[in-house]
Amino acid sequence: MVRRVASSDALQVRFWGTRGSTCASGPQFVEFGSHTPCVEVRCGERLFILDAGTGLSSLGMELGQNAPDKIDILLSHLHLDHISGLPFFKPALLAKERVIRTYCGHLEGESAMEPLGRLFAPPLFPVRLGQLPARFEYHGFRAGEPITFDDGTRIDTHLLNHPGGATGFRLSHRGRSVCYISDVEHSDPWPDPGLAAFVRDADLMIFDGMFSDAEYSYCRGWGHSTWQKGVELSKAAGVKALAIFHLYPGHDDAYLKAAEAEMQAVMPTAFMARERQSLAFEPSDGEAAVECPEPALARANEG
Ligand SMILES: [Zn+2]
Ligand SMILES: [Zn+2]
Repeated sequence: MVRRVASSDALQVRFWGTRGSTCASGPQFVEFGSHTPCVEVRCGERLFILDAGTGLSSLGMELGQNAPDKIDILLSHLHLDHISGLPFFKPALLAKERVIRTYCGHLEGESAMEPLGRLFAPPLFPVRLGQLPARFEYHGFRAGEPITFDDGTRIDTHLLNHPGGATGFRLSHRGRSVCYISDVEHSDPWPDPGLAAFVRDADLMIFDGMFSDAEYSYCRGWGHSTWQKGVELSKAAGVKALAIFHLYPGHDDAYLKAAEAEMQAVMPTAFMARERQSLAFEPSDGEAAVECPEPALARANEG
């Protein structure tokens, strides 16, 4: 495995929480981690956070005082495993001038303000997000429409098949792209042509492969897919690397390593996402292109 330091203009991904539904804990859950969904994406220096599960607290500890003044959190949807880290995000507790902007696309254009306000309030939670030092902003959009930010950055989105809906995101930078497809249940037939077009030729797809095909008959309709369906979608859409995500909390390290080996036999660039694992994709748009020692994929740091 090649270890290298990413350039400051790379597209970088770091997993802070890879479990779905609830946390996992215990000596058999060390390698793949315990926290629920949170992924840090850097487009060069620009920070985006995908989902605010319990992994957000670890990312907040890492960012600390060095967090940007404006932080953008893209919420796939508002199920508890994707938002419960919000009030524990240290940068929201440190600076009054900081703005935390949330983006939500599965509520027909409505923002997350009202549902988050209902959850983070007594008697369910002791303080409201509005009482924290940082200022929270709530932006709503319709999944399928791109999000355009005040610095001109654009992120494409796609509505996913999940109870109540969820939003998939595609982040692109300097000729590289990463797709975040969680939470989603595969459709019949599969791959879904619209989703395949959305993730086409991505350098990395992060995909809800919570279960295996063998388990799926027991959890049909729960809103989640399988690692085999992630491989099928990747192959149909020319996705270069696949990170299986939203890992079932009952799958321990031994299970996931065995499933990963089985998966890599059919797609060598697929892997089970590990908490704190990071990847970097160097620019490929012609300017200062850097050779990548592994096919389209460099693991910068697996610490
Ligand atoms: Zn979930
Ligand atoms: Zn969900």
